[in-house]
Amino acid sequence: MIDPFAQIVIPPEVAQLPKADIHIHAERSPRLDRILAKRDSREPYDWVAWAKNLMQDYPAGAERLERISPVFEHILDADQDPENFIARNLDILEEATKDGAILTEVRYGRDLADVPNCLDLLQEAERRVQNNYPDFRMGVIPFIFLSWDKTKLDRIIPMYIDWAQAGLIYGADVFTIPYAEEADWTEAYHIADKLASAGLGITVHVAEVSPANLESALKTPGLTRLGHATHAGYHPHLTEKIAKSGVTIECSLSCNVILGASQSYETHPIRTFVSAGIPVALCTDDPVQMSTTIGREYAIVHQLGFSIPELLDCTKNAIQVAFIDDKQRRHLLKIHNDYVANFT
Ligand SMILES: [Zn+2]
Repeated sequence: MIDPFAQIVIPPEVAQLPKADIHIHAERSPRLDRILAKRDSREPYDWVAWAKNLMQDYPAGAERLERISPVFEHILDADQDPENFIARNLDILEEATKDGAILTEVRYGRDLADVPNCLDLLQEAERRVQNNYPDFRMGVIPFIFLSWDKTKLDRIIPMYIDWAQAGLIYGADVFTIPYAEEADWTEAYHIADKLASAGLGITVHVAEVSPANLESALKTPGLTRLGHATHAGYHPHLTEKIAKSGVTIECSLSCNVILGASQSYETHPIRTFVSAGIPVALCTDDPVQMSTTIGREYAIVHQLGFSIPELLDCTKNAIQVAFIDDKQRRHLLKIHNDYVANFT
């Protein structure tokens, strides 16, 4: 069995593959801690120890999930400094490009909703990465929590629609609660419909801690992707519904194993999804807290038996449903196709 905390050697044939990560959160306080630690020549927070304790102390599923992210809130004041803001985002993008990523779509919650000028800072981070990796593209996905108060939702939805019309964003993640039990999706559909009408693609987190909400999620206006959907893989009728819908699943295996959506890498339903004809993408979700990278995720899936052409399909699947403009998509597909042509 693959240990979720194992040092995985990335074989050269996997290291050189063009990769895409379309489900990664900004993890702003863990990233901030990492860049501040480097600057202060100290060790960053020990996320491996933290995650091991999480797995020991809490049952799989929702109880583990609710303990991620808030760990490091006390250092968030440092995020007010634009250079720190850029640096923590640069950290995400540089980590990905080092592993061969040509596309990284980062999800932002409060930091995007409450710091509207942050798009300029994110573009600056992307520009700096492109100095070394000119082919690399970054996508920005607003993460909309339905638990936010109505005033905030009424402020940010029109703002995101304006950004869509200005060609600054191309998709959004609508997060409905409750997550583990069946939710009322009326408001989520309403918001998704507004965003989709403005041209945005929609993704949702679903079936990560239970099979609840999967069928409702598939009815979301504008839906092209599902985050996780892991539990759908344990129920053939749900797998079939996803296959029929044509949506892509964003699979984050290490996150699923550590939070308990899957008991192990070996029993993860990614192969079930592929066998059912569902396009899958490989993603990292919360790579700092899960101590992984996109290259490591590709290497793990390779160890599980996915061939190099199958890994290349994952990259292509991600590019095809990425929330980017058509010109960027053609550019990335060309890089992918050129690689495949040279490989075969
Ligand atoms: Zn996620």
